[in-house]
Amino acid sequence: MPLKGRFAPSPSGRMHLGNLFSFLLAWLSARHQGGRLVLRVEDLDPVRCQPAYAWQLMEDLEWLGLDWDEGGSSAAYWQSNRSHLYAAAFQALSAQGLTYPCFCSRLQRLNEAPHTHQVSPSCPCAGLTSPEVSARMEEKAPSYRVRVPHKTLSFTDGLQGFYSQDLAADCGDFPIKRADGAWAYQLAVVVDDAAMGVTQVVRGRDLLSSTPRQLWLYQVLGLTAPEFYHVPLLLAPDGRRLAKRDADLDMGVLRRRFSPEGLLGLLAHMAGQQAAPTPISAPELARDFSWARVPREDIPVIPALLS
Ligand code: GLU
Repeated sequence: MPLKGRFAPSPSGRMHLGNLFSFLLAWLSARHQGGRLVLRVEDLDPVRCQPAYAWQLMEDLEWLGLDWDEGGSSAAYWQSNRSHLYAAAFQALSAQGLTYPCFCSRLQRLNEAPHTHQVSPSCPCAGLTSPEVSARMEEKAPSYRVRVPHKTLSFTDGLQGFYSQDLAADCGDFPIKRADGAWAYQLAVVVDDAAMGVTQVVRGRDLLSSTPRQLWLYQVLGLTAPEFYHVPLLLAPDGRRLAKRDADLDMGVLRRRFSPEGLLGLLAHMAGQQAAPTPISAPELARDFSWARVPREDIPVIPALLS
């Protein structure tokens, strides 16, 4: 099967160096093997996402020479227009008895698992009877969770190697629909990667621990999972991972300071693809790209990028 990769940005701010690092590796991996790329806009959260950030991100990628073959400006590839597909998946899960309404507040959930800051494996709502559910619904709109089994889900990440989780113990029944009706990332990403025929997911290492949950959804929805490469995060000089709030390394600033080739050269150096941070174009980098040279551990931003 031909390789199909993807860019899956959330348009909640201007793209920063860390996002770009993941996108560059997704692009290089796909193009090196003659594969295709999809650009899907992950605008599930109506409060945090703004279309203007998505348009800006596409323009920033084009400026760098990182292109895609499907999606982007096409409305069908924006998650806010794909609710019918998530609703169908939700129905398929409910038909198997795998979903239930949850009335817990976020605070309650954190209190149940104070050390892990994860959802309690045993959400008290899992055992509510239907009269109890009806009574609670009068007072509060529920979120919905999917049940997970006491089962170890494992996979081999292309970069990070073997990874496994006991879903019930390590993660617990997890939300797939919020109380305000918004679909959760975990469900939407699985439905979309499968529907769009994505065969290779390249994304930040912060999502490694979400992957077993997603593999569980692939299984119970009868979908084929892609291969995964979880790439290192970039670290600010104080050791924190870069985030959208680090405006000093967002694309607006970087474009004023560097040419596309200058910026790609620095990123390629951090990604182990060239010995020195010399300017280089995207197609030249794709020609000699190798996963074997990409570091696994998080990478401090090199001084040349800091103003
Ligand atoms: N939209 C997510 C983000 O921007 C990425 C999700 C994914 O790659 O699976 O963090």
